[in-house]
Amino acid sequence: MIEHAARHAPVIVIGSGPAGYTAAIYAARAMRKPMLIAGLQPGGQLTITTDVENYPGFADVIQGPWLMEQMRAQAKHVGVEIVEDIIVKAELDKRPFRLIGDSGQVYLADAVIIATGAQAKWLGHPKELYFGGHGVSACATCDGFFYRGKDVAVIGGGNSAVEEALYLAHLARSVTVIHRRDSFKAEKILQERLFNHPAIEVVWNSVLEDIEGAEEPKSVTGIVIRNLKTGEMEARKLDGVFIAIGHSPATDIFKGQVEMRDNGYIKVKPGTTETNIPGVFAAGDVADEVYRQAVTAAGLGCMAALEAERYLAARELDHAKTHASAIA
Ligand code: FAD
Ligand code: NAP
Repeated sequence: MIEHAARHAPVIVIGSGPAGYTAAIYAARAMRKPMLIAGLQPGGQLTITTDVENYPGFADVIQGPWLMEQMRAQAKHVGVEIVEDIIVKAELDKRPFRLIGDSGQVYLADAVIIATGAQAKWLGHPKELYFGGHGVSACATCDGFFYRGKDVAVIGGGNSAVEEALYLAHLARSVTVIHRRDSFKAEKILQERLFNHPAIEVVWNSVLEDIEGAEEPKSVTGIVIRNLKTGEMEARKLDGVFIAIGHSPATDIFKGQVEMRDNGYIKVKPGTTETNIPGVFAAGDVADEVYRQAVTAAGLGCMAALEAERYLAARELDHAKTHASAIA
């Protein structure tokens, strides 16, 4: 890896999802000349979905990739410098903060906004990817609406799976929860609600063996499940499969520096985006395991930029005071 001359920006935003773009837009309008490092997935998670119906401001159904293009265009319009690189190392114990790109470029920042998001975990079945956005989803809040009056399955047994099933049960005709063991690890109160719901059936000790579908239009028509105790296969007709086996926040490069919860999500001071390191902020899915929505990520990105601005302004005031007392 060749090291290029270091590049400095007052604010560096890592990530180009809704949180990252929003943070950068606000920082640019605060005249902080932000640099945004886009990462491996420019535009973030919404670039792998189709219809988005819950991002406010659009009466017509919009497409995820289109929405992210608009955010990128807006960021560029207000003067954000967008850099196509991936941060592979972060040295947050140094001042200015030091970030190293996969390109070999070193970036220096007075404030850093981490907006690296999270990724849904997938089972790894080839058809999951093939039918993604066409019958297979990892987000009931996002896609549940498309399954009104239809039959769906949810895979998983944690809080996410049970919450997704309960959410879908308001919309779908039937919800089948498929879990690989014979008990859930979800909170008891959620389990109780699920067991009492007339539209929800639970299939224990079973895994998804296959996804069946049609080509024109591309859609899911059924699944095959395998009972792990008996080896028996069962085909079921349904319209959608929701994979809810957890999410992984993209925080590996910050481990040992920024405080995290046991599951890898960045810890922030309640009601803020402040991490344990003054000058380092975390916004969006990377710090939010509960809501995980584009609009909440954008809102947290806005908060991070406003907090970074306050941090930089306070620091400048301190420097000015120190300078003045040195002269006096
Ligand atoms: P992300 O969108 O995850 O973006 C993270 C960014 O960080 C990416 O640009 C990535 O390249 C970058 N990055 C990661 N690591 C690095 C690194 N080391 N260096 C530099 N950059 C890095 N929400 C809704 O509100 N409505 C919906 O309809 C909806 N549909 C969805 C459909 C699908 C299939 C999925 C997966 C999610 C959906 N969501 C929806 C959820 C929504 O996409 C997320 O909540 C939102 O994208 C989170 O935004 P974010 O900015 O925090 O992170
Ligand atoms: P999780 O708790 O890790 O549960 C994942 C579930 O998926 C488990 O039941 C697991 O099975 C199953 N699973 C994992 N890999 C699988 C595979 N390859 N095939 C089949 N099944 C698989 O994840 P989560 O439910 O997303 O929750 C993550 C964290 O967020 C938890 O701390 C949770 O409490 C929290 N959360 C909280 C709320 C809330 O408070 N309302 C809501 C959502 C999430 P096993 O049970 O066999 O391991």
